[in-house]
Amino acid sequence: MGSLYIHIPYCDTKCVYCDFYSIENHESKKEFLNSLLKEISIVAQTYSKQDIFETIFFGGGTPSLLSPNELESILLSLNNNFTVSENAEITLEANPGTVNLEKLKSYRSLGVNRISFGVQSFHEDELKFLSRIHSVDQARDTVNLSRKAGFDNLNIDLMFSLPKQTEQKLKYSLNEAFQLSPEHISAYSLIIEPNTPLFNLVKNKIVSPLPPDDDADLYKVTLEEMEKNGFHQYEVSNFCKSGFHSKHNSNYWNHSNYLGFGPSAHSFWKINSNNAKRWWNHRNITQYCNDISNGILPITSSEQLTTKELLQESLFLGFRSQGIEVKSFNKEYGFDIFTKYSSNINRYIQENLMMFENNMLRLTQQGYMVCDSISESFL
Ligand code: SF4
Repeated sequence: MGSLYIHIPYCDTKCVYCDFYSIENHESKKEFLNSLLKEISIVAQTYSKQDIFETIFFGGGTPSLLSPNELESILLSLNNNFTVSENAEITLEANPGTVNLEKLKSYRSLGVNRISFGVQSFHEDELKFLSRIHSVDQARDTVNLSRKAGFDNLNIDLMFSLPKQTEQKLKYSLNEAFQLSPEHISAYSLIIEPNTPLFNLVKNKIVSPLPPDDDADLYKVTLEEMEKNGFHQYEVSNFCKSGFHSKHNSNYWNHSNYLGFGPSAHSFWKINSNNAKRWWNHRNITQYCNDISNGILPITSSEQLTTKELLQESLFLGFRSQGIEVKSFNKEYGFDIFTKYSSNINRYIQENLMMFENNMLRLTQQGYMVCDSISESFL
């Protein structure tokens, strides 16, 4: 089973904190879409009809800038070139302010069955700071419109640890999100990424990031509020109502195969633990389109993963998410995880940071709070 990812590299305005590849000038959109369809058909020649893809994810950038006709042409191409499961999870990332009821209905009728809104905050001042294009009211209205359009699997993205954010302000945003009854919430701590305007604002001391202790406190508040409101945590930053985990992201965390299309998209293909490769496309629309018009794949770099690297990734990804399935892990890597890491595992279980049940070795809520240091101790 695998996943397909499509990167749509356009945004109306670049957000101050964002380091995803996207551009504000949309003049190249037509050329990009032609190149994307060509890339899909070239890549597909390498894969067999036996390779079944169970999720498709439109990310970016802002995929909701695509017209329904444009989206339809991409979906048709994916379905014609790959074996996509009949009941595949098809997610589209959308920004409030870029869709109306008619567009949402069209997306739904084309088979998109999961929608993910980049809401980020329910405070106008925070949205302004993040340079989001939408208002709080627009976010609420768009979520409600998507229900009218027939979406019954909906994610809201939120951010915490914004500069000057208080516990009270975060709780307000979380509670506003709960009021909209989403099936899924992703809550990410604001990261100051290099090469972003925010990085320079921090460097020039115009913006002060929250101290790490406050970040940890706000994360704890997030976990507590999610639990109180019936959201099950299944990854460090992801929470859902029962049965509504993101299959696409879970595939990434389970080390399943995925193919990415579009500028900056990454792909991963594992035959077995001795044979796995990762590669990624140019982070530049001109280079991407030029390569494809010259009949070559727009790959900028690739790496062959060693068994040791795969093992480390399996541990890291497993601990971040739903845990490590012990029997299959032991079989794949040829040793018993409890024997090899006995002192670590015993210590974390005693400290209530880790648990073992139903053949899964996974972190507890407290464990998620120190996930990185636990993972590092295994490496
Ligand atoms: S809308 Fe999303 S992808 Fe576009 S700039 Fe903002 S955060 Fe980045």
